[in-house]
Amino acid sequence: MTPAYTIIAPIFNEVENIPELYRRICEVMDNADKPWELVMVDDGSTDGSADLIRELAAADQRVRPVIFARNFGHQIAVTAGLDYSRGEAVVIIDADLQDPPEVILEMIAKWRQGYEVVYAVRSEREGETWFKEFTASLFYRLIYRITDVDIPLDTGDFRLLDRKVVDVMGQMRERHRFLRGMSVWVGFKQTGVEYKRAARFAGETKYPLKKMLKFATDAITSFSYFPLQMAMYLGFISAGISILVIPVVIAMRLAGSQAFFGQASTLIAVLFLGGVQLISLGILGEYVGRLYDEAKGRPLYIVSEAPSGDN
Ligand code: UDP
Ligand code: MG
Repeated sequence: MTPAYTIIAPIFNEVENIPELYRRICEVMDNADKPWELVMVDDGSTDGSADLIRELAAADQRVRPVIFARNFGHQIAVTAGLDYSRGEAVVIIDADLQDPPEVILEMIAKWRQGYEVVYAVRSEREGETWFKEFTASLFYRLIYRITDVDIPLDTGDFRLLDRKVVDVMGQMRERHRFLRGMSVWVGFKQTGVEYKRAARFAGETKYPLKKMLKFATDAITSFSYFPLQMAMYLGFISAGISILVIPVVIAMRLAGSQAFFGQASTLIAVLFLGGVQLISLGILGEYVGRLYDEAKGRPLYIVSEAPSGDN
């Protein structure tokens, strides 16, 4: 029998969290009115998470394991979960229990009312460093301002998607993925439910600063040309300034001023322009590199073990 609900949990070295995650999901979903499945995507864990997932799957048919050949990253792991999901409503949840499974029932209630995307809005965060809170808040506001899609503030990937939305997103095979943006971009009827983001149940974040920065550039470049346009604006601004300053300098020299003798002013101008040019080139490089990745057309992920049964 195909399940009505699919829960997707991406897992990267979460061996201490898996039993509790499974227990909490069972507790909550057994109160749902229809059958469900839990797709656990192992994103190349090295701590034995994959074995634990296999054990759970052997004991409980509702657990479907997707084991990656290596680490492909959180967004790709969730994508694989979406590809293997069979439910009419699909919920994406973090495996570290920062997203309380109890909220799923509220999401399902909204889905029943006819909403096709139900995202969870963090009203509070617990147990995060001020640095993470600050950068996250800055990130969401920046994304909101410079991208063309109105991604709701303070929402993560914790959300419910209707089968229609999952099918549309399944056709969007871009490599550098920002799922929470993609699920807004598709349209459909959307709404939010508020929740309190808990602290991690166990273990440490799998998003160090480097991954966070990559995630932020993926988000911005997938939904905006703003950085490219910024190079043009900077060009106009510095050209404008020089046009204004040239007659001033000429006039001062004619009047006998010593202000622009020497190398300092030349050096400043050259270094400034050199910097602006290199930054612009780097930004261009980001977009070209992404184009190159898309052009190669490699599969998004490689699965070493896929769940048995129909798909
Ligand atoms: N994750 C993943 N692959 C990665 C990094 C993270 O599948 O390369 C999973 C991780 O196991 C967790 C979820 O993505 O279930 C969110 O990661 P994390 O909790 O470390 O992020 P944070 O909540 O600190 O932003
Ligand atoms: Mg987390």
